[in-house]
Amino acid sequence: MAEKTLFERIIDREIPATIIYEDDQCIVFRDINPQAPTHVLVVPRKPIPTMDDVSEDDAALASHLLMTAKKIAADEGLANGYRIVINCGADGGQSVDHLHVHLLGGRKLKWPPG
Ligand code: AMP
Repeated sequence: MAEKTLFERIIDREIPATIIYEDDQCIVFRDINPQAPTHVLVVPRKPIPTMDDVSEDDAALASHLLMTAKKIAADEGLANGYRIVINCGADGGQSVDHLHVHLLGGRKLKWPPG
């Protein structure tokens, strides 16, 4: 069996995290190294490595991740706006090979992100 990803270990409660939401498809927890007052990760239970690995069969799941990020943004009071980011691969700056959506907000974010 393939080794669990770091985020699967969080899902399985083997590694602690500040989990703020979960349902049958995804889990949301606070980033350990926050880049904004609100910085959470929306992570599918299904261990899809990268955005590149998302297939048409995962379309409903991908949509659910975005809709969950939007819901959490509202829960976090980000009425002034927020940013949703998916890093993909080495050039995209992805460091954990388990698909995740970053939700950042609570301050004015710069563009481009660098
Ligand atoms: P990425 O660079 O897009 O792959 O994002 C991975 C994110 O996971 C980074 O923002 C890290 O700070 C975050 N991260 C790494 N380990 C943990 C952990 N144990 N708990 C919460 N967030 C983590």
